[in-house]
Amino acid sequence: MFCQSNRLYRVYNQGWPARCSSVSQLLTVMPNSPHSDTLAVHAGRRVDPTTGAVTPSLVFSTTFERNADGTMPRGYVYSRTESPNRRALEEALAALEGGKEAMAFASGQAATAAILQSLAPGDRVLFPDDIYHGTRALVKGEFTRWGLKAGFLDFSDLAVVERAFKESAVRLVWLETPSNPRLKIADLAAIAKLARASGALVVADNTWATPILTQPLALGAHVSMHSTTKYIGGHSDVLGGALIFGADAPAEWVTRVRDWQKLGGAVTAPFDSWLLLRSLATLPIRVRAQSETAAKIAAWLSAHPKVEKVHYPSLPSHPGHLVALQQMASGGAMLSFEVRGGFDAARATAGRLKLITRATSLGGVESLIEHRKPIEGPDSPTPDNLLRFSVGLEHVDDLLADLEQALA
Ligand code: PLP
Repeated sequence: MFCQSNRLYRVYNQGWPARCSSVSQLLTVMPNSPHSDTLAVHAGRRVDPTTGAVTPSLVFSTTFERNADGTMPRGYVYSRTESPNRRALEEALAALEGGKEAMAFASGQAATAAILQSLAPGDRVLFPDDIYHGTRALVKGEFTRWGLKAGFLDFSDLAVVERAFKESAVRLVWLETPSNPRLKIADLAAIAKLARASGALVVADNTWATPILTQPLALGAHVSMHSTTKYIGGHSDVLGGALIFGADAPAEWVTRVRDWQKLGGAVTAPFDSWLLLRSLATLPIRVRAQSETAAKIAAWLSAHPKVEKVHYPSLPSHPGHLVALQQMASGGAMLSFEVRGGFDAARATAGRLKLITRATSLGGVESLIEHRKPIEGPDSPTPDNLLRFSVGLEHVDDLLADLEQALA
């Protein structure tokens, strides 16, 4: 049985900033820890006091009126620094992830960059070797030029991580679990404990697991990061990123990252924030349905003679299965598999699919598949014959029929 971490007790134990009035209101009505399903629908939303509108209004204004005495009693000055739809989205994300505060960005990469920009030249950061290739490119191509020292290691092996901590001081550990695209599982609680013991900050890219399946802050991360482009957006029509900070993230560091968000200006636009908040309401139900289908497909692929290997954490054969059982509510809606016959066989299989779309990205309502090696380039450790599969909301029988004819 996967753990059932749906009740976000932490949220209610740590107190909320005054501005999170929608969550405070929710607490008054339901003092007994609402489930994440309830928070997903209500957090960040409130009935408009002037019109009674139930659905949040969309505020495009870039600038906001001052009082005669120069004060800004409504709390908004200029939309790069803060805007109503973004604030609502940030409140909802913080509530769902059990965090103290959230910051919404224009993309997942902008959120990642804000964290890395907050570090000092010479800081050493540990990353998983099987990390999203865009994060790897950002680190290797850009941040090492500014003096960041990056180590890429196998986070699924705790002994390797322990050794890395002993070699020299680590400023930050960047986790991504399950990893992209081999779904390697890192033990979040154990690595966070190691990092905290040596004074390092812990960031977990929670894009694939989503707050519905994994709560990194409760497991010891200081920050949970998302490409909200994926499951949180859920419809492949909005680009965004987010950072959710735990109550014990160092205040000075949180302020520095917030400054990067406001001064750098890579923020979520009003309409994108509005879309993301709307999509959050269905996140739990989408993730559960998509994960259920993914588990059936992973089991089916594992028994297929044309498939060499399936990477999916809820399969008992997955090396990270036991850790996944502890930190995920289910195996998730992403899987990857290796096609017998190498690079060409994988490409030909993807080429024969009719229902499942060949496209990059993931987490949408429609199933997407991608032959990863040609996308990631020669320095990627991804196997030549690997297809990454983002399982959508279609009926499992239709997806299996498409896979069957493509593998035949
Ligand atoms: N993290 C993970 C795990 C991803 O899969 C992606 C994108 O695919 C990103 C970060 C980057 O997000 P974005 O494309 O929104 O910038």
